[in-house]
Amino acid sequence: MILPLPGERAGVRTAVQSIVPALLSWFCTSARDLPWRHTRDPYAIWVSEIMLQQTQVKTVIPYWERWMQELPTIRAAARATPAKLHKLWEGLGYYTRVRNLQKSAQQIITNYDGKFPQNFEAVLALPGIGRYTAGAICSIAFNQPIPILDGNVIRVLTRLYGIPTDPREKQTNTRLWQLAGDLVLHASRITHHAPRPNSRTRTRMKDEDDQYCSHLNQSLMELGALVCTPRSPDCAACPVQKTCVARKRNLQEQLPNLSKREVPTERRFIAFVVERNGKFLVRQRRDGVVNAHLWEFPNVEVGTRVCDLQPSAAKGLGLRTTETKPLRTIKHSITRYRITLEAWRAELAVPARVLASDPDQSLNTNSPGRRPELQGEWRTLAQLHQLAFTSAHKKILGILEKRG
Ligand code: SF4
Repeated sequence: MILPLPGERAGVRTAVQSIVPALLSWFCTSARDLPWRHTRDPYAIWVSEIMLQQTQVKTVIPYWERWMQELPTIRAAARATPAKLHKLWEGLGYYTRVRNLQKSAQQIITNYDGKFPQNFEAVLALPGIGRYTAGAICSIAFNQPIPILDGNVIRVLTRLYGIPTDPREKQTNTRLWQLAGDLVLHASRITHHAPRPNSRTRTRMKDEDDQYCSHLNQSLMELGALVCTPRSPDCAACPVQKTCVARKRNLQEQLPNLSKREVPTERRFIAFVVERNGKFLVRQRRDGVVNAHLWEFPNVEVGTRVCDLQPSAAKGLGLRTTETKPLRTIKHSITRYRITLEAWRAELAVPARVLASDPDQSLNTNSPGRRPELQGEWRTLAQLHQLAFTSAHKKILGILEKRG
């Protein structure tokens, strides 16, 4: 049963009254059994939401489980060393997320005595938490009637309501937030919902049968992920097919009406794998750049056309190399960049007398006055394994490990 809202728009109310129960029933029977759905701990839900930004669920699961095992509380996250944080996040990318997560944890310790705030504005004020994430935490952990709007929800709502304009435009975006708000507000007015979860999901959602705001928001995201997919949505299996405007008008493939993305930019990098006495030369990315604090093999950006390796190494890295051999070419994408990383084995041309002054080559070689070709640190494979690497350079490390 849904209690009426004062002053509510009649057309929207009619649609909402059929959509909300259908979504709740579907979520109870069809939602994936994800580890963060076994808890209402706001910290655990927050960590999952931050990890899920730009990253697929199946990738996030092992990261989330490892994180919660190593840093099970806000206090543990606040106190963790940067090296530990980056290692736990290694491979997820967008590392500002993890640094903001720690800043927020530290603020929660200072300002809220370590207890996660329940007030939406307070959550929104934390570093790295935007409107979507604050809404997700408040609705999922605290069952508050606060809307969420991410890519999945935008797709579902634009199709469901047949919204033809670009969801990135301000007016359309405002309307979508309003519609998402209408739905979750209705969910909060439900006093009884049938059918109840089936026996399989009842166990999973123990003590959560009345978490209607939480389930409604999650159902929108889940529907977008599983049924109302970007290509070929499974409308026959959709719980809101009878109400859906896109389905009635056969507009599924046209909606959402997103403007064309920028053409990707090609970039090319060359990395040098330099080994001496069983140790490899690696460098840590400096503060304030993409992937700051992560480790990588010395590398330099070059033009996308053929280039001469030795001058590139000398000019960009301060390395003087002698022999070079191809190791592997790695292609990957970051935001709008299509990146090609060519890894080369290289011999370092350093006079014997210089190496003799640094015999074990294990000192931090970034000290002022150090010869440029020795900048960085020399580490064994086992030591490299302890460091957090950028994803592409982690692949180079994997190749070295396989080759022994
Ligand atoms: Fe999406 Fe099809 Fe469901 Fe409409 S009926 S919401 S297009 S899956």
